Amino acid sequence: MAIHPKEQRLVLKYADEPGYTPHIDSYLEHGGYDMLKKAVTMEPQAIIDEVKASTLRGRGGAGFPCGLKWSFVDRKSGKPIYLICNCDESEPGTFKDRQIVHKDPHQLIEGMMISCFANNVAKAFIYIREEMPYGAKILDQAILEAKEKGFVGDNVCGSGYSCDIVVHRGAAAYICGEETGLIESLEGKRANPRIKPPYFPAVLGLYNCPTIVNNVETLCNAVHILDMGAEGFKKIGRPNNAGTRIWCVSGGVQRPGYYEVGEMTLGELVYDICGGPLPGRTIKAIIPGGSSMKILKNGERYKGKNPDGSEYDWGLEDIPLDYDGIAAAGSMSGSGGMMVLDDTVSIPAALANLMAFYSHESCGQCTPCREGSLWLKKITSRMVHGEARPEDVDLMLDVAGQIAGRTICAFGFAVAWPVQSYIAKFEDEFREYAAHLSDPKADRQAIKEL
Ligand code: NAD
Ligand code: SF4
Repeated sequence: MAIHPKEQRLVLKYADEPGYTPHIDSYLEHGGYDMLKKAVTMEPQAIIDEVKASTLRGRGGAGFPCGLKWSFVDRKSGKPIYLICNCDESEPGTFKDRQIVHKDPHQLIEGMMISCFANNVAKAFIYIREEMPYGAKILDQAILEAKEKGFVGDNVCGSGYSCDIVVHRGAAAYICGEETGLIESLEGKRANPRIKPPYFPAVLGLYNCPTIVNNVETLCNAVHILDMGAEGFKKIGRPNNAGTRIWCVSGGVQRPGYYEVGEMTLGELVYDICGGPLPGRTIKAIIPGGSSMKILKNGERYKGKNPDGSEYDWGLEDIPLDYDGIAAAGSMSGSGGMMVLDDTVSIPAALANLMAFYSHESCGQCTPCREGSLWLKKITSRMVHGEARPEDVDLMLDVAGQIAGRTICAFGFAVAWPVQSYIAKFEDEFREYAAHLSDPKADRQAIKEL
């Protein structure tokens, strides 16, 4: 994919360079594994301190500070510490980790080995989405190559430190990407998420041992933090939002794709880099960070106070494209899966599509999520089939309100937030659909057919 001049590539720096391959020779020609060689000469705690100082935040979606997560690891339990790379990228709209895996797998392996050395890990796993078989093959091959060169396995870089990496194919369900569901799946069980707290993986993770679960892009950044130093890394992006981020833009723009950028606004990404809406269309709304996130409506003002007390008043295009900017606008940057909805999109139809997805993917453990997501699928489906009841909009809000915050894992919010935010921003559209009341018998028939 062509690199846009406004991009600032760090993690994807070489991925699209002509002639660059996923093989180790390409990586070594570009200075690959130099940072691992450096890491094994350092004190492990110094690496953790550097990552902490860099303020790197998790790129999987929650944006939790990576160094802080590492510092929570129970190192006194006497049990082995595991590291799992979460490569179960399944959030609709997100396709960044697969670029790294397919095009530059050794960067991930180097980032993992640095992280493993820092945290005294002797066995690490890459849990890769079942639907990425090509990626799993590439990783297996890359690990073999790295072992042959002494970067993985026994006596890493002649340091006496040993660590193995195992690639594990996922179980083809969205919930396998939730870290505790992933751990259950890796243990050979159904991917039912665990209640956290108390079971944060840092204390009780894989096989009840302390476990670090980090996203692919997060782990790659460990290489760049060692290379640039925490201070150099923090020079990219706004405070508390250090480093680049890879955004996956899909939907109604002229140049959809993945783009790695530093500090910029949402408008610069959508209009300058992605070329704005298709000819003759306008942007109606943006889902900024994957399907679980609250929707942002074009034409609205996003107002509030900055931490320093100053005020902001943004249009959609002015929102800073980072964790704190998007949070200040009332949503989350999530996993960077930005979906642009233009004026041809029906918001209730978009929601019906999402609810069909979530009701299918609920693991079923919690009644509000299992039953609520199914009800929301049924209601939104009958709505877009012209068979809604007048009370359906309120019913949807009621059901969503019964799910949010009442479930074991964050999936409950992923179901409730789109419903609540789509209705909050586009209530007229929903009421219009709901007003098309048809024969209740037909309505019951529609439910039966779902
Ligand atoms: P979370 O906020 O519960 O946790 C974030 C991370 O911080 C976890 O690793 C957790 O273990 C750790 N953590 C938080 N508090 C801790 C504590 N007190 N002690 C130790 N560790 C602690 O979020 P989550 O449920 O893991 O993730 C939700 C996010 O996942 C969503 O925001 C969404 O964007 C994202 N998501 C991503 C994908 C994808 O394909 N990348 C798919 C679905 C969801
Ligand atoms: Fe399963 Fe949904 Fe409960 Fe998460 S919230 S544990 S997906 S039923």
